[in-house]
Amino acid sequence: MKEHGMKTYRIAAIPGDGIGKEVVPAGQAVLQALAAAQGNFNFEFTSFDWGGDYYREHGVMMPEDGLDALRGMDAILFGSAGDPHIPDHITLWGLRLKICQGFDQYANVRPTRILPGIKSPLGRCKREDLNWVIVRENSEGEYSGVGGRVHQGHPIEVATDVCMMTRVGVERIMRFAFRLAQSRPRRLLTVVTKSNAQRHAMVMWDEIALQISSEFPDVAWDKVLVDACTDRMVNRPASLDTLVATNLHADVLSDLAAALAGSLGIAPTGNIDPERRYPSMFEPIHGSAFDIMGQGLANPVGTFWSGVMMLEHLGEVAAAQRLMRAIEAVTANPALRTRDLGGQAGTEEVTNAVCRLLAQDDAQQAIAG
Ligand code: NAD
Ligand code: MN
Repeated sequence: MKEHGMKTYRIAAIPGDGIGKEVVPAGQAVLQALAAAQGNFNFEFTSFDWGGDYYREHGVMMPEDGLDALRGMDAILFGSAGDPHIPDHITLWGLRLKICQGFDQYANVRPTRILPGIKSPLGRCKREDLNWVIVRENSEGEYSGVGGRVHQGHPIEVATDVCMMTRVGVERIMRFAFRLAQSRPRRLLTVVTKSNAQRHAMVMWDEIALQISSEFPDVAWDKVLVDACTDRMVNRPASLDTLVATNLHADVLSDLAAALAGSLGIAPTGNIDPERRYPSMFEPIHGSAFDIMGQGLANPVGTFWSGVMMLEHLGEVAAAQRLMRAIEAVTANPALRTRDLGGQAGTEEVTNAVCRLLAQDDAQQAIAG
């Protein structure tokens, strides 16, 4: 029921493929339960059936003018692009990257921490030691899409993927990362680089980091080579807080980060247009998980946490905190862990539990109030 004057957020839901079709509906259910419990805003979801099945029928992953249907939305909730019977570069570029690039969502924000009850595979790592946000450059670099392939099948065949970096692109992601670091208690930024081996673009990357740092005198920052960064994440996790890295580097480091924090199934991400010219897109960092799709086994927590990021982006901070509390109550309960966390629970059980907790939280707050 729509009450007069109540805010309604228009959200595009794009489940995509594989377990995306399981975790996105789960995310919608939880967000609806949250809105009902909060009582001061509504969600209006519009679902789009784009992805592998759409490709089989139409020859494209999404319609040519698909972005126009998303343009007026307040945000996008995304699942995964990737189908076992279609090459990965077609599914990824035909859907997810088309939206990321089309809406210039240049800042990909990936928080990682060890949620209550979750055990890190790192024996020496205490919960409070691992609390990171990785900022991934999301519009250019190694995934700019510049390159080509000619003379296919001949001995003289050539293929290139050009890592393209622009001053505008690097300046805006550095500024975003310094600002984000500044907003966190430790005010600490680590710039990930590879300027020893890549002597053009990555050297510019380092120079621009130094240049932008002068705008943020209250942020402590350092630089680390990407290979050494993996060691630091494993052996000195507490030395890191906010990280900024290129498209490829951050892609790899954030899967490592998620695994160190317990599971790929938990980690969330936001593809953000900081200037808010276009809707931003929120999704779990995991992919289609072909090995478990269609079985009700997928961990929906990564999608729920992405919902928290979406709420923060929409300015619904209290609702975001309430959802995060419910997520943490669920991860703390061994009976509500999915298989990737060593438990037995299925997607539906976890989803129902979060919905129940959201309603209870409401009752508790009503009593407290
Ligand atoms: P993946 O993330 O799909 O799976 C890696 C492993 O993690 C699998 O064993 C899987 O079962 C497990 N896993 C992932 N998410 C889980 C969850 N929520 N609950 C429980 N277990 C989970 O990575 P992949 O196998 O490299 O890729 C599969 C497909 O997904 C490929 O087509 C790839 O291109 C695509 N992909 C898409 C995105 C995206 O659209 N954002 C991201 C990554 C991969
Ligand atoms: Mn990835």
